[in-house]
Amino acid sequence: MSTLTAWAYLATTVLFILGVMRLRSPATARSGNFLLAAGMLVALVVTFVDDGINPWPVMTAAVVLGGVAGTVSARLVRMTAMPQMVALFNGMGGGAAALVSAGETIPRWFGGSVAPNDAAAAVALFTVAIGSISFAGSLIAFLKLQEWMETRPITYRGQHWVNAVLLAVIVGVGVYLIAAGSGGGPWFLVFLGASVLLALSVVVSIGGADMPVVISLLNALTGLAAAATGFLLANNVLIIAGALVGASGTILTQLMSRAMNRPLSNVLFGAFGQIQAGAGPATVTGTVQTADVEDVAMLLAYARRVIAVPGYGLAVARAQQEVRQLMEKLEARGVDFRFAIHPVAGRMPGHMNVLLAEANVPYDKLYEMEAINPEFPNTDVALVIGANDVTNPAARNEPNSPLYGMPILNVDQAARIIVLKRSMNPGFAGIDNPLYTNPKTSMLFGDAKESLTKLIRALDEV
Ligand code: NDP
Repeated sequence: MSTLTAWAYLATTVLFILGVMRLRSPATARSGNFLLAAGMLVALVVTFVDDGINPWPVMTAAVVLGGVAGTVSARLVRMTAMPQMVALFNGMGGGAAALVSAGETIPRWFGGSVAPNDAAAAVALFTVAIGSISFAGSLIAFLKLQEWMETRPITYRGQHWVNAVLLAVIVGVGVYLIAAGSGGGPWFLVFLGASVLLALSVVVSIGGADMPVVISLLNALTGLAAAATGFLLANNVLIIAGALVGASGTILTQLMSRAMNRPLSNVLFGAFGQIQAGAGPATVTGTVQTADVEDVAMLLAYARRVIAVPGYGLAVARAQQEVRQLMEKLEARGVDFRFAIHPVAGRMPGHMNVLLAEANVPYDKLYEMEAINPEFPNTDVALVIGANDVTNPAARNEPNSPLYGMPILNVDQAARIIVLKRSMNPGFAGIDNPLYTNPKTSMLFGDAKESLTKLIRALDEV
């Protein structure tokens, strides 16, 4: 590696670290993304000018193809489809790491040569396993989120045993391949096949709505695979970038599991959301009060403080612009209007922050759960917009509830609660929400975008 390349890789590393640090807050995330892209550009350019790297026509074709595919999909993707796009891109990263490592060791498995040495071969096998698991798992995650395959957990008798056998095959064949020295090509293919099958078997048994956690975990694996490829190629920037992705993916996975109050093992092996034989549709017992648009507009217009609680339904309805307009209307009347953001509201980390930022809602209007929960008792109206599980008091009060223990937004402590949703259907967890039969709660049924538009119009009449 030339001195120029070494310095350029150092600059890339600094840009990557600063970029990731700036992703911590919505206010700095955009510039963080820009720094990360700049770091990638420096790494790409120096790789081209580095005299040891060939062949440049193939590399140019790859960069152009990747650049065009990335730009087009980033421009076209809908906010609600972001998790599956991340899954697809993540899978490509894992697959690329596996291919590069497989390519580096092909002479050993198929050419009869012992090069590369045992240590390098072991690293390559590790990368091939992790990378292909990430690739295959991410593709299943993509298909489930896109609803191109059954989104519910697909389970069968003895599934955990099948997974255990596949894992044993991967470890056993891997050890054999190292011990055998050169050759063993067919066994390498068995190794590869078992890795892909393991990923398919584990990920099909996980429900579509748990996919963001799985993607985050697979993202950590991709980072690990990239870092291991970096060792194989003696490429520092790949090691560092892979380690950053691996660490941030691991932290994010932990944060998401904690915010749902479910151990990772439950996400991976619990088949959460599986249809139970004989289980009927969710029902709520008690009286449900409905409200009309005019009543709700009146209530909001004369409130001192309103806290809006956005959830997955806001993203489905694409009602972020309308909610900002409602905020502006009410603020013009002197209402103190805030947003309460639950860490797992929506279907991906930061889902609500991104949606509201897209609609230019100022960051200082967004309050995290710990900061806003003490404010609900002093709030006149909690306006729940397409959120369900993150407001479910059963998580606090009912030890038998699957949600029990998950920290929630305490909307039931507000003086009045207005819920905007289309029906009495449950949310992701598939369970009833006693909030809807609370005497303080009124339901405004309908698509969130339509209801908010009507509310904005009705406010002009108040
Ligand atoms: P929920 O999935 O609990 O509820 C969303 C509600 O939105 C539904 O009850 C639905 O009711 C309503 N809705 C859907 N479409 C519309 C529409 N067009 N207009 C109005 N309402 C609509 O969402 P929450 O955000 O409250 O909770 C997120 C859930 O997802 C949690 O259980 C969390 O654990 C889980 N999860 C979150 C992840 C994350 O990273 N954020 C990752 C994985 C899981 P109706 O059909 O009646 O309209």
